[in-house]
Amino acid sequence: MIAIEEVSKRYADGTVAVDRLSLQIPNHSITVLVGPSGCGKTTTLRMINRMVEPSSGTIRVNGEDILRRPVNALRRSMGYVIQNAGLFQHRTILDNIATVPRLLGWSKQRARARAAELMERVGLDPGMARRYPYQLSGGQQQRVGVARALASDPPILLMDEPFSAVDPVVRRGLQEELLRIQSELGKAIVFVTHDMDEAITIGDRIAVMRTGGKLAQFAAPDEILSS
Ligand code: ADP
Ligand code: ADP
Repeated sequence: MIAIEEVSKRYADGTVAVDRLSLQIPNHSITVLVGPSGCGKTTTLRMINRMVEPSSGTIRVNGEDILRRPVNALRRSMGYVIQNAGLFQHRTILDNIATVPRLLGWSKQRARARAAELMERVGLDPGMARRYPYQLSGGQQQRVGVARALASDPPILLMDEPFSAVDPVVRRGLQEELLRIQSELGKAIVFVTHDMDEAITIGDRIAVMRTGGKLAQFAAPDEILSS
């Protein structure tokens, strides 16, 4: 589990992005951070994988302060998916997904076999393996992004507005795929969105943030709907 304890982030220009946030994120569940643009969701996510250093407070993963772990080992334990997938444009789909296993020292053959298996898991046609990102639709590229994040089988998945740039019908399919992946693989998924409908559709727990980086509510979807 991820324990965020009294964490604040003040950027160099004085902006307080996150203000004394405390949040318990359980394993084997989808926790959604939701709130208006600029309320500190991305900053919170980036503090979990140490792309942003907190100004104060502590973040623990399974009891261990993340500052005590080498940053590479920490990031290897966390898949990261962003809007517009962030794919390597000059590499094929298969090689995009195989990148992380290759970095972990797997042979090219084994990494590609793993990538092919992940393509199937996220619902990508095997015929797309040799294409390049620009030859795929936005929804397909997001599937590649999810497959790439799953490649090292990390216990934690951090997802920053992963489905926001695709149309509503495709988004619905991606949400269902994610719920299926979660039920099969049992990750701790932290999912950022500004869309409350999306939060309620996929979240087991929803952290509602408000402007100024404060937590307004942390509850199950049915409690949020009835409040
Ligand atoms: P959200 O993801 O909810 O849109 P962010 O975490 O991206 O919010 O941003 C929270 C606040 O911090 C915003 O006011 C944003 O402009 C500001 N911010 C984000 N990154 C930086 C940065 N590198 N330097 C200064 N301010 C930043
Ligand atoms: P996102 O849509 O992922 O929240 P943004 O467009 O808010 O991204 O930010 C893009 C980049 O600019 C990020 O690296 C973020 O940290 C940085 N950033 C955002 N707001 C500010 C700001 N006010 N000052 C400096 N950098 C910022």
